[in-house]
Amino acid sequence: MKKIIITIDGWSSCGKSTLAKQLAKSLGYVYIDSGAMYRAITLYFLRNHINWLDTVQVNDALAHITLTFKFNNKTQQSEIYLNEENVEYVIRDLVIAEKVSDVAAIKEVRTFAVAQQQKMGEEKGIVMDGRDIGTTVFPDAELKFFMTADIAVRVERRYLEMLAKNPNISIDDVKANLEMRDYIDSNREVSPLRKAPDAIELDNTALSIAEQLEIAVGFVKGKIY
Ligand code: C5P
Repeated sequence: MKKIIITIDGWSSCGKSTLAKQLAKSLGYVYIDSGAMYRAITLYFLRNHINWLDTVQVNDALAHITLTFKFNNKTQQSEIYLNEENVEYVIRDLVIAEKVSDVAAIKEVRTFAVAQQQKMGEEKGIVMDGRDIGTTVFPDAELKFFMTADIAVRVERRYLEMLAKNPNISIDDVKANLEMRDYIDSNREVSPLRKAPDAIELDNTALSIAEQLEIAVGFVKGKIY
């Protein structure tokens, strides 16, 4: 069967990773969470007190960063490693979410991450989610989705997800963070969040996870069979 590249872009907390993981599993494809790469870079910058407005410091820091994804048989998902340390869980913290969009707007950071993402797609058979995957990373991908959902629904979903790990989190903090990231991500100079002209728009405000998957699988079938 023909192997393709599937890209899933969209606003924060639209359910991109849920769909991407399910599609990858059902097709036997690799799933790559490109946002995890920007989060891991942000974690390194914060831990090492890197001033990301200083290009020399940024380039030096990037030279010391190795990012890898390894499949965890227990959790049945691929997890990100920063210099051999599993940081899959620590990067989900609000402290990282508050800074990641600033870090991801830096040209050198994007060049570093995009080059690795493109390498991962060389063999195809990949589902990657993010903000610029269908526009910049894989502009020639065979199948592109652009996901949206009402802000109230997105806030509720992310709040419930974060509440499980942090009982002190407030819904207002989550909302402010989502709105801030969406604003920075869609207004930055380098590869702003945009729907690729050939992307299929999927609004999942009123869809269940199963319904969303069914719709997406319908489009996949049209491409690979
Ligand atoms: O997908 P996730 O919400 O984990 O991404 C975290 C942040 O990483 C986004 O808010 C965005 O600033 C950045 N990002 C990006 N380009 C991507 C994926 C994520 O700029 N392809």
